[in-house]
Amino acid sequence: MTWDVALHVALRAMTAALALAAFGYGVTRALNVRGDLFRRALRLIGTLLLLGFASLTALDAATVSLRGVAPENELLDWIWVALDALVPAFFLLLIESWRRRDQLEAQLAALSETDPLTGLPNRRGFVARALPAIAAAQRQGAACSVLMLDLDRFKAINDGFGHPAGDEVLRGVAATITEAVRAADVAGRLGGEEFALLLPGDDPMAAGHVADRLRALVADAVPHPAGDGTRVTLSAGVAGLDGATTLDAALAVADRALYAAKAAGRDRVVIG
Ligand code: GH3
Ligand code: MG
Ligand code: MG
Repeated sequence: MTWDVALHVALRAMTAALALAAFGYGVTRALNVRGDLFRRALRLIGTLLLLGFASLTALDAATVSLRGVAPENELLDWIWVALDALVPAFFLLLIESWRRRDQLEAQLAALSETDPLTGLPNRRGFVARALPAIAAAQRQGAACSVLMLDLDRFKAINDGFGHPAGDEVLRGVAATITEAVRAADVAGRLGGEEFALLLPGDDPMAAGHVADRLRALVADAVPHPAGDGTRVTLSAGVAGLDGATTLDAALAVADRALYAAKAAGRDRVVIG
């Protein structure tokens, strides 16, 4: 085999491999939203087709050159090599552009579910993580509870020390919550100075203890901008989730309990 035949065979094999990758990538990408069985069937058909294409194209390159159909003229041969090289380059560009778009979409999805101030999931992110956690707990027959936490008299911190000082307190509370919870728990900032926690495996009683521990931790660990020993306090409402309760319904119960905690004087936990 001469060098030019080897080059043609290598380029065609590359084309076949990249076309196979592009086909697999493209099909799985396009079918991400459709059924699993359909996706698998199409992948199989695509793989068989392209394996056939791969062997035929390599065979074609070899036999065409061996039969001497390949141009004898060196310039024409170079043009032929260049054309052979364009096809894998096209597939490379195609795969790269898909990959970049997927990356951007993933980044966008992550951004839309994250609160930029604290880095915690926002309401959308909280719900997106909480729903599968609830489903998993319910499959295992485990208890599950939600907490709503709201900082006490937070407006006074903003009014007295400025918005940036308020932001600093919010970041401190978020960090304290993040550090204190277990890996399976889901934390989020639902808005303003309001946080939520989903506690898989905890009944409302146990969740109430978690809330009380967090209340004490925040008071101890988060510096109050007054700097005179004033504590950052919070109130919390707890609700249990049984098989028949939706997350929304549980959050509404926790919110009512939170309201009761505020009405009872703040800096406390109420189980709904
Ligand atoms: P309560 O004890 O009843 O919860 O009183 P509160 O002052 O904490 O509650 P209120 O709802 O009256 O005020 C919440 C304040 O939180 C008002 C709003 O300006 C402030 N806030 C909301 N989001 C942010 C934020 O991202 N940063 C800062 N610094 N303040 C925020
Ligand atoms: Mg508040
Ligand atoms: Mg509030």
